[in-house]
Amino acid sequence: MRSALALMLGVVVMAGAIAAGWYLVGALRGDGAVPQFAAAHQAPPSANPPAKLAAKEGAKDDVEVTGAIGPKPAAPAPVPAPAPVVEKACANPDALGVSRVVEIDTTGGPGFGFQHFKQFDFLTDKEVVLTFDDGPWPGSTPAVLKALDDQCTKGLFFSIGKHATYHPEILKQVLAAGHTVGAHTWSHVNLNGKKMTEQMDTDEIEKGFSAVKWALGTEPAPFFRFPELQHNPAMVTYLGTRNVAMFSCDIDSHDYKHDSTPEKVVSTVMTELAKQGKGIILMHDFQKRTAEALPTLLKQLKAGGYKVVQIKAKSTFQTLPDYDEAFAKEMKLPTASSRPISSVVQTVMSK
Ligand SMILES: [Zn+2]
Repeated sequence: MRSALALMLGVVVMAGAIAAGWYLVGALRGDGAVPQFAAAHQAPPSANPPAKLAAKEGAKDDVEVTGAIGPKPAAPAPVPAPAPVVEKACANPDALGVSRVVEIDTTGGPGFGFQHFKQFDFLTDKEVVLTFDDGPWPGSTPAVLKALDDQCTKGLFFSIGKHATYHPEILKQVLAAGHTVGAHTWSHVNLNGKKMTEQMDTDEIEKGFSAVKWALGTEPAPFFRFPELQHNPAMVTYLGTRNVAMFSCDIDSHDYKHDSTPEKVVSTVMTELAKQGKGIILMHDFQKRTAEALPTLLKQLKAGGYKVVQIKAKSTFQTLPDYDEAFAKEMKLPTASSRPISSVVQTVMSK
């Protein structure tokens, strides 16, 4: 009797254990566990909310603008649509062209350009990368695009967010021509500036990317260049958590200097290249003199035996929804309110 009772008790305990085991397995397999895991991986590790979008039009005096930022045009920017990338055959048999295309895995935020980052020496002798900052800008950016197109070669563009909102149609042309587009902050503020807080620096970076994404109608490359090459250490770390590659340079064309000329741009680049043998070249599609220098510079690169390496990203930049929303709100007000009444209200019938 006692053994029968013990047997029954044992069966009950075992059944309970099996049931508990299946319950555990079910819970682990259950739908609830997977989205939590995925969400944890999707969330940016240290993304701060945009507590203050410092570069609001009304608050722009708060930020120290030290670089090439152009005046805001009177006309509002239209809402852009995605741009198709069209690859076409090269019509120029003597073109500089592209000798090599490299794809960069931006995980962890690698840095390139020996002026600041010396870990990844990916260029071989005579190889150059053409980079252009501060656009898009009417006149100069289309002229840069034409010069590159005439030589069937490709560049890497770091757009200022504000400029992207002024001229989204030009930034679309950059992407449509097959070039790579990254970001260069919202308002070209020096991120090492004394008035800048970590939150303001973060806002400058994130809002810049959101603006470039809006202008392109698609995600930009996770590539960033610090204004004036001012590498703020906290932001270098932050960009690492956002998986954004940072680009310094090897050869500075000094095309932003007031006493620079198209001739000086060409001679500065060619002289430095003769010394260094290769490198990432820093130029500005914002500068008219650079646009004027480029046809000659590209011909001299070809004649000198230099080869262009095109840079692409393995993945795209994922903007933060908070910044996208804040940016969209800001864009809406001035866009709608600055339209002329005749384009908003039209008489379609009158007696
Ligand atoms: Zn710049």
